[in-house]
Amino acid sequence: CGIIGYAGGESDDTVLERLLHGLSNLEYRGYDSAGIAVANAPLAVEKRQGELSELERALTDGGTDSDDWIGSDAVDGFDGPTGIGHTRWSTHGPPSDVNAHPHTSPNGSVAVVHNGIIENYCELREELSAAGYEFRSDTDTEVVPHLIDQERSAGVDRFAAFRAAIDRLEGSYAIAAVFPGCETIYVARHESPLVLGLGEDGNFLASDVPAFIEYTNQVVYLDDGEFAAVSPSSVTVSDESGAVVEKSIETIDWDP
Ligand code: GLU
Repeated sequence: CGIIGYAGGESDDTVLERLLHGLSNLEYRGYDSAGIAVANAPLAVEKRQGELSELERALTDGGTDSDDWIGSDAVDGFDGPTGIGHTRWSTHGPPSDVNAHPHTSPNGSVAVVHNGIIENYCELREELSAAGYEFRSDTDTEVVPHLIDQERSAGVDRFAAFRAAIDRLEGSYAIAAVFPGCETIYVARHESPLVLGLGEDGNFLASDVPAFIEYTNQVVYLDDGEFAAVSPSSVTVSDESGAVVEKSIETIDWDP
């Protein structure tokens, strides 16, 4: 299981290449499915059970997703500046295309990847179902995009909506979310590894350094309870109260 995110792609293929490359460098962690989302408007999402080659095939074949807001029917649709990727080691719900991450809100307002386990997902699922949210997967993770969407529908801004959703979760998580047409990735960590990579032409986040070591060796480790906003030009870490945390930047001194 692993997470990768990259904000900063300028050329057409940069984001897709870096996400897929990052996921392949995280394969050693084990996985049963893989997926990516690029923060175009509408969001571009593709995900598949099986090896990374299945995801790559789906991307180049144009995919088979039926939801019409999943914008891209070719790899060309994945050319935005910002994206996230995931390899899944399933804990809730069997390996399948639908249970693979990213998970999205029904109207495509947000896409989320998650490593870990959300312990209180049953009660959140009940609450969200009662509020009219339809669940498409069997995962614990799918409550997260719906919680974020609920806040967004109430007019809350992106980062505050993300924080409010994370605040409802019990369990372990490294979570990253992207919004349509927004260059910033929002990140939260609790008892699941997450490291940020500060690059010259963009910034990364990942479960582990090998995901992006070819591009940068300048890293910031997130601590439990911390949040980050990762944009092409900046990385800001904050604590549970929203106060900015000054983190030390470490240099990784091994060769890729
Ligand atoms: N609990 C989530 C799921 O089963 C995430 C698993 C993971 O860490 O990859 O989908």
